[in-house]
Amino acid sequence: MNQEIERVKVLIVGSGPAGYTAAIYASRAGLEPILYTGGQPGGQLTITTDVENYPGYPDGIMGPEMMEDFRKQAERFGTKVRYGMVTGVDFSQKPHVVTVDDQVTVHADTVIISTGASAKWLGLDSETRLNGKGVSACAVCDGFFFRGQDVAIVGAGDTACEEASYLANICSKVYMIVRRDEMRASQIMQNRVMNNPKIEILWNTETDEILGEDEVNGVRVYNNVTQEKKELKISGFFVAIGHQPNTEVFKDFIHMDEAGYIKTIPGSTKTNVEGVFACGDAQDHIYRQAVTAAGTGCMAALDAERYLAAMENH
Ligand code: NDP
Repeated sequence: MNQEIERVKVLIVGSGPAGYTAAIYASRAGLEPILYTGGQPGGQLTITTDVENYPGYPDGIMGPEMMEDFRKQAERFGTKVRYGMVTGVDFSQKPHVVTVDDQVTVHADTVIISTGASAKWLGLDSETRLNGKGVSACAVCDGFFFRGQDVAIVGAGDTACEEASYLANICSKVYMIVRRDEMRASQIMQNRVMNNPKIEILWNTETDEILGEDEVNGVRVYNNVTQEKKELKISGFFVAIGHQPNTEVFKDFIHMDEAGYIKTIPGSTKTNVEGVFACGDAQDHIYRQAVTAAGTGCMAALDAERYLAAMENH
């Protein structure tokens, strides 16, 4: 097969706030970046509704619209935005070799990885159908829409505990759906939810179906020991069963933690490979906010720019 080969100074992989911010900075610096969007152009924000916590939008903005604005701003300074998935990399040589859709080969002096992470879901049809209509994987993003109402959250790790506590500050009641008779979360986080009178923990409980036509109005759960089913009236259903960073394609070259989050040198976006930088949720399992992703995207572009300048001076 004939392969098209292209040479770029900066290749950005991923199109969430981190990738587009890196693109804005790199293009304004005259580096003519190319950005490949990945399978979900715009990233996780395109599956949320209102974004009210991104500074600069006093009235809030819809997630997909905000990502359109990010894209336009990146394109305005010359970023070439292309649809495509990175399907292979070879970071053992310079320039770095990146394959897109198993067809296009790009030779890049620097690569900025901003592939993000994907929330894990339970896999129920009703969960997909009601996504963004009461079903959410981000309490910090969407909890506010359910203030004064009853909600449920699935999961028993530190994230679920943290988000349950966050929701308890806003909502009138929080059901915590835990599939075993114990939690995975650290003891201090468990104590926090157990001592919160607004949180009711449902042990050995799993989700059968989320109820509602156009919006969530309940959930049917079952006890996996007794098989007893019951329905809870809720208007928000939060899933907090972990995230999966989208970093698989880089794993032969880039150092990661056990969960697949890319390790960066503290205070920078540098990875273990020279000229490869990582930003956004692909390297951050702690904050995971649009604004923090954008911040690290900016850092990655500046790190790439400095790296290229140093290369030229040699
Ligand atoms: P975890 O993988 O730690 O926990 C996932 C939880 O979801 C587990 O309780 C698991 O249950 C449950 N779960 C998984 N699949 C299903 C399913 N299909 N149905 C029902 N429940 C399910 O993910 P987290 O996001 O909580 O945490 C990720 C990492 O980030 C951890 O290392 C955590 O410590 C860290 N973190 C630290 C924080 C802090 O220190 N402040 C805050 C947030 C995260 P089971 O236990 O039965 O497998």
